[in-house]
Amino acid sequence: MTLDPRSLAERVSAEIGLELTGTEGQDGDGCRWFELLPAGHPAGQTFTIRTIVGWRRVDVHFRPGNFAGDLIHAMSSVDDACRRTFGAILATCREAGAEVLLTVNGTTCDYEDHTIWEYQWRSLGLLISKGMLAINGGDAETDMREIELWTSRLAAAIVALLPLEAEEIADESLEVVGLPEGAKTRIEVNRYERDRRNRAAAIAIHGYACKVCYLEMSERYGPAAAGLIEVHHVTPVSKVGPGYIVDPRTDLIPLCPNCHSAAHRRSPPFTVVELQEILQQRKKDGRAAQA
Ligand SMILES: [Zn+2]
Ligand SMILES: [Zn+2]
Repeated sequence: MTLDPRSLAERVSAEIGLELTGTEGQDGDGCRWFELLPAGHPAGQTFTIRTIVGWRRVDVHFRPGNFAGDLIHAMSSVDDACRRTFGAILATCREAGAEVLLTVNGTTCDYEDHTIWEYQWRSLGLLISKGMLAINGGDAETDMREIELWTSRLAAAIVALLPLEAEEIADESLEVVGLPEGAKTRIEVNRYERDRRNRAAAIAIHGYACKVCYLEMSERYGPAAAGLIEVHHVTPVSKVGPGYIVDPRTDLIPLCPNCHSAAHRRSPPFTVVELQEILQQRKKDGRAAQA
């Protein structure tokens, strides 16, 4: 496993559902950096995510392009669910020991301060810094995992605020019977967008380890399985009303493919606690049989 910008871009893209390209370079202090850029957008109007790899630390910067004013404005106008997700991801970073620096219109502010959503954003800065990391020890895979983790967390926070296209139109047209073909496609696209955004947020908040058996797929299968995890709705999608807003903190959990399949062998699905009890019981039975 080598540490290269293409692999990083591939992994983060897979996690947040946004196609990114990667480059790398070195800053004045001799620190290596990686930069991710959404594919197919003019660089000036979109943003890059730059991860600077220092000694035992990473600094992940959100860097809007020089002409990204419309995007920044749109990011401050997203709905409540998106704002809460943004805050939840940043809170997760802080709980994990990172420093989170948010600046809006040139002023440092707190992501928990609700007033930041009350005015129009003209500029936005976001920096997530994590020190005391077990990196630079000579194992590229370990370094990659930490760099990927922190880069993805910032990316998921940004994705939470990216405008969904034609959202209002789609929501309205849900009420309309006999939709024209184009509108139907749009609704599906929007649902997909919401799902992938929630998936990115759930992983950024809960991590890659299965909530039932604690397996992280890459631990068993190596780098080929890095980032491989499924996201399960704790409350079945069919049980919630159409206007229900998914909260990635409480409604979504990561499960490995085995535990996820097992959970759905019953309707309603087995809960995390039930599955853990089943696994415990199996272990006990196994020990009893051997004795
Ligand atoms: Zn599992
Ligand atoms: Zn599920």
